[in-house]
Amino acid sequence: MSLSDHPFRVGFGYDAHRLVEGRDLILGGIKIPHELGLLGHSDADVLTHAIIDAILGALSRGDIGQHFPDTDPKYKGADSLGLLKKTMVWVRQDGFGINNVDSTIVAEQPKLAPYLIEMRGRLSQSMDIHRDQVNIKATTTEKMGFCGRREGIVSFAVVSLMKVG
Ligand SMILES: [Zn+2]
Repeated sequence: MSLSDHPFRVGFGYDAHRLVEGRDLILGGIKIPHELGLLGHSDADVLTHAIIDAILGALSRGDIGQHFPDTDPKYKGADSLGLLKKTMVWVRQDGFGINNVDSTIVAEQPKLAPYLIEMRGRLSQSMDIHRDQVNIKATTTEKMGFCGRREGIVSFAVVSLMKVG
């Protein structure tokens, strides 16, 4: 049975980026006002990267580093929503559609609740699905660990894909 014969797939993604001064904080394609931003070769959108990794996992297509290497100047400062759109080309090529996406951002600060609906809008638009198919949760680690010390932000994502057509 090949991958394309399976009617249902699940993928998991995890990502972490360091918080530094002098960088924008981009999460789910939204620029969030904050005195620190995420460090990375691309725009370091940790939530979008976790979702991309979850999709690639569901497709058994490896991981984000293989497809969009941080050694490639092409991806310097890259808009991660653009990378998500590229990933969606493979979803369609393999004969799948996204059933739903669930995700969690772990950040001590800033408070992300006011931005979650807009993030869901941007992400669902990039994946060409309805906003109700994308869920984003935001939590803290109650000041424990590197997220708690505001050294970085982490994201987790789970994606389910369905065979289409
Ligand atoms: Zn990343």
